[in-house]
Amino acid sequence: MKAVAAFPKERRVRLIDAEEPKLASPSQVKLKILDVGVCGTDKEIYSFAYGAPPDGEDHLIMGHESLARVVEAGPEAAGLKVGDLAVLMVRRPCPDPACRACAAGHQDFCETGGFVERGINRRRGYMTELVVEEAKYVVKLPKALKDVGVLIEPLTIAEKALAEARRVQARLPWFKPGVKGEPGLGARAVVLGAGPVALLGAMLLRLEGFTTAVYSLEPSTDPKAELVRGLGASYVCSRETPLDELAKKAGPIDLVYEATGAAPLAFEALEFLGTNGVFVFTGVPGRKGPISVDADRLMRGLVLQNQLVFGSVNAPRAAFESAAKDLASFLKAWPLAVPRLITQRHALADFEAPLAGRLPGIKHVLHVGD
Ligand SMILES: [Zn+2]
Ligand SMILES: [Zn+2]
Repeated sequence: MKAVAAFPKERRVRLIDAEEPKLASPSQVKLKILDVGVCGTDKEIYSFAYGAPPDGEDHLIMGHESLARVVEAGPEAAGLKVGDLAVLMVRRPCPDPACRACAAGHQDFCETGGFVERGINRRRGYMTELVVEEAKYVVKLPKALKDVGVLIEPLTIAEKALAEARRVQARLPWFKPGVKGEPGLGARAVVLGAGPVALLGAMLLRLEGFTTAVYSLEPSTDPKAELVRGLGASYVCSRETPLDELAKKAGPIDLVYEATGAAPLAFEALEFLGTNGVFVFTGVPGRKGPISVDADRLMRGLVLQNQLVFGSVNAPRAAFESAAKDLASFLKAWPLAVPRLITQRHALADFEAPLAGRLPGIKHVLHVGD
């Protein structure tokens, strides 16, 4: 079977013939890959800035954003049967028995850093035709998600971040966005960025009843801006409107969901977080050198306004399950906007252009099978 593999020693990425995986335990399933999404992490692996092959191997089969169908199920593969549409989780626990997070099934909070990630870090990925996995790392999807299910993994980033934000804001018993008639309805969120993780986060915030503004570089005439407005959110171009103006117009900001990886913008936005507000970082910046921030002002704000800033990475199984439910709700609410998040599908052999990051749009997908 064909696979897209990165060879770090040769600094080459090429299509290889890989051996078909076989079930090795009764709790495993074999899946046929349908779609694999391409994101910034894949682009970093493609340029050898990130990622590592499995121990003892010279190449890494890439890809971590999957949509697949079960083609073989072991007798103990709980909850999965042949024909099921599914998504595979990315991170697997570290082997250290002292890691409390991994022992609790929360490898997204791994304490040792010894975890592996399929298609990223020391474990084969999904840019191939068939994969085998333990059923506990495979999440069944409703059939209605066939055309957009590849968006589940990027959506889990927003699911986890916002679930954490909800937990944090449980400290404010009156803060109940999304609950009709509750005083928390009308809570205000600002999304930084307009990539897939940002736009999926904006959809989730809208679904939960937040008054949502998406703040990004693209001009207000960009198709992404139009898509945002179609969600009932507002779009604000960072080149046209400075952040202080946005804060003045929008009113106190209850939640900032950062999905750009751009530190200068994020720290500027932090200055405009409202009283009792929460700021969640999901973007990973490249190392571009130090920036200057008004630390006294930020610290005063954090203390005097009970603000909370946290980061969120990867996602637990619960986030995949809620993503499956929420993506189906997105499709019902915005049947045209959701498919438009996928800009183009490419054959597996045509991996170069999407991985090199030369293509405009939102999400590029390698289409492997039907
Ligand atoms: Zn990704
Ligand atoms: Zn761990």
